[in-house]
Amino acid sequence: MPVERLARESFGVTPDGQSVDAFTLRNVHGLEARVITYGGIVMSLRAPDRAGRFDDVVLGFDTLDGYLRDSPYFGAIVGRYGNRIAGGRFTLDGTAHQLATNDGKHHLHGGVRGFDRVVWRAEPPDRRHGAVLTLVHTSPDGDEGYPGTLAARVTYALSDANELTVDYRATTDRATHVNLTQHTYFNLAGDGVRDVLDHELTIYASRYTPVDVTLIPTGELAPVEETPFDFRDATAIGARIDHPHEQLRNGRGYDHNFVLDRNADGSLALAARVTEPRTGRSVGVSTTEPGVQFYSGNFLGQVGAGIRGKAGRTYGARYGFCLETQHFPDSPNKPHFPSTVLRPGEEYHSRTVFALGAS
Ligand code: BGC
Repeated sequence: MPVERLARESFGVTPDGQSVDAFTLRNVHGLEARVITYGGIVMSLRAPDRAGRFDDVVLGFDTLDGYLRDSPYFGAIVGRYGNRIAGGRFTLDGTAHQLATNDGKHHLHGGVRGFDRVVWRAEPPDRRHGAVLTLVHTSPDGDEGYPGTLAARVTYALSDANELTVDYRATTDRATHVNLTQHTYFNLAGDGVRDVLDHELTIYASRYTPVDVTLIPTGELAPVEETPFDFRDATAIGARIDHPHEQLRNGRGYDHNFVLDRNADGSLALAARVTEPRTGRSVGVSTTEPGVQFYSGNFLGQVGAGIRGKAGRTYGARYGFCLETQHFPDSPNKPHFPSTVLRPGEEYHSRTVFALGAS
């Protein structure tokens, strides 16, 4: 029997009465990504290890309730602006804008009700295209303080080469800032049963953007050389995470934007690669973006005694890592960073590919 590439089922109703659907994308090798229309969340991703054993390699919840409560952006599409904007403020074309603040005095991941907390509309699936799902959302003018009506469109596609591609597109009717990303927490050991400190990480970046104690970039592009931020050769995430480096103290671990060496011209290039030694699983992250936020899940353990996730498992600190492809944090206030301005008549397009492997 041929594989059913795309299946839809109902996933519940939000408190304000909107129906949420879950789509399962499958490929010929049995890889499976489950995406819900709430937040465009990748709620599970089942991939084989070197022995062919399938496990779920992302953190999340079993039910919509979990995501409605206090999810730390598990698997979500983040917008309008992934990462922080200092003081939630920027001036664009001479007009000052005040955004919602939700991270102390700063704006984080789109504000109080970002793209991770809205129900996206799924376009009617075209089965000829296989495991492809397009989600659309229109954010009204003034949403969370942003100027312009922003029409966003995110496509997930699971290929038979075991790649999950995320394409982001957006247009606006007034000049605004856009920086969309994906907030999946991976744990390649499977099923979120232990921390990710033994995962080996490579990031193709010679520089990173140091931050102050509130995680706003200082504006400097600092060399990674001879610091715990040098991941140009594969290194265990945990090898230097407790090093007494000021930047690791500021982030309570890794929570930093890396300036990608190969991505200056906006073409798709390999940004990072992670392998898990016991299972042999790996994920390669390619992107058209100039930066990637490597977040080592430091804050997971601070939520009570951890977060109760799928199958009753408790996720503690550093049980998952995120590689959030992006423009640099606080770009609206850092004129020397690559620009995140989108103007009427232009189309924002960004692509990230997560390539899953096992060896
Ligand atoms: C940020 C962290 C933040 C987390 C929210 C990450 O993208 O960099 O600072 O705590 O998202 O779960």
